[in-house]
Amino acid sequence: MGGKCPHRHVKKRRYSHKTARRTKFELKGDDMVYAQLNITDQERPSLPLDEDLPGMGQYYCLHCDRYFSNIAVRDEHFKTKRHKKRVKQMMGPAPHTQLDADLAAGMGMPDNGPKLMSM
Ligand SMILES: [Zn+2]
Repeated sequence: MGGKCPHRHVKKRRYSHKTARRTKFELKGDDMVYAQLNITDQERPSLPLDEDLPGMGQYYCLHCDRYFSNIAVRDEHFKTKRHKKRVKQMMGPAPHTQLDADLAAGMGMPDNGPKLMSM
């Protein structure tokens, strides 16, 4: 007798690789990043020192919402395709925000005019 040994069938652990779980590491929503990009440097708070982050949170790519351990790594990141794509995306038309979705759904911004009915 012979045949296939049932134990030989090893399931591949598809979700062990980081890329497969990319969504778990996913970053801020595009609209949030976009909002960050639209404020000036003066308005933007300086990066707080954070021991939990690589490089104490001082080397940050705003476009990608990522932290780097040192400036060289960050500069390398600036040259990557992924980053450039991201920048291009951010330079383009504004990403859809929740407000857009609400407007599209016919739920406009709350009208802040004078209240006609007093409580
Ligand atoms: Zn980047």
